[in-house]
Amino acid sequence: MGVGKAKFLIDRRLAILLNLDQFLLPMAQLGKDLKALILALDYGGTKHTAGIVAVGERVWLSYERISSPLGADACSDQATMLKLARKLLADADGRLIAVGVSFGGPVDGLTGTVKLSHHVPGWEDTPLRDQLQAEFGVPAAVGNDANVAALGEWKFGAGQGCPSFLYVTVSTGIGSGWVLHGQIFNGADGMAGEIGHVIARPGGAECVCGKRGCLEAEACGPAIGRKMRERWGAGSPEPWTGETVARAARQGDPRAQEVMDEAARLLGAGLGGAINLMNPERVVLGGGVTKSGERWWRLVRETARFHALPQMRVDIQPAALSDDAPLWGAVALTGK
Ligand SMILES: [Zn+2]
Repeated sequence: MGVGKAKFLIDRRLAILLNLDQFLLPMAQLGKDLKALILALDYGGTKHTAGIVAVGERVWLSYERISSPLGADACSDQATMLKLARKLLADADGRLIAVGVSFGGPVDGLTGTVKLSHHVPGWEDTPLRDQLQAEFGVPAAVGNDANVAALGEWKFGAGQGCPSFLYVTVSTGIGSGWVLHGQIFNGADGMAGEIGHVIARPGGAECVCGKRGCLEAEACGPAIGRKMRERWGAGSPEPWTGETVARAARQGDPRAQEVMDEAARLLGAGLGGAINLMNPERVVLGGGVTKSGERWWRLVRETARFHALPQMRVDIQPAALSDDAPLWGAVALTGK
């Protein structure tokens, strides 16, 4: 080979390299500029929510909540959620790096396996974390909704800065989650924080768990409505619910006040017991029943104070993130 031909080949290689560089550099630049995104999913009993947020930011880039139809099962719920997630991701400007999940039912927080759903059949022993990792090709983390919501309030809401923190949601049921030193406390079976099934009134109302007198069966929204119907329902045109009883109580109906006061005191006693056990820095309450008004809050706080040891702080505050606590908790769960 002559010198001239060899030089031509080197130039040619250089040219190819340069051309490649011209192609590769913008691609590398593009990869750097793309926002790192987290997909947060909340599998609720009756609603599913998905949101996308850029790492380190506190505003949803996209967010959508849809109702789960009557008669849904695990298969249809999963298909609905994946369709929703794919739609949000298709419109998102960035690259997905993690998926965080809040699930409405017991979950093994270590393996991300759903044990069951209290609302929808077919979720028994579903390896949801593995399914999502296979679907999206990025790490996923899955937790129980009350635990994940606790983490959300701790990191982004009313529990910020608290080394030991209890979050309790009082709505259609009563759930809670502990965050201790920045970590969800799962317990030996991943079930820690079931304050709703601590006995508030031995032999009392029947609970969804099959036992009697659980705090949930005495103080959640449906329990308040049921008590009102049982005690005062005869002749009343009202289809009492937790919300309508709370409204009637605020308007001065003494029957509704009696029922609401009783529920508030039982919840306060339960919280006092939890405070005695763990001595948390702060307790945060979320869920629809916490919108019952000042009188309900005063009774909850007074009763918790009465039952807690006098040397312990009783700092009970309203949640800051409202319905989005599980979704922000799902973001926090990814550790990004
Ligand atoms: Zn129970």
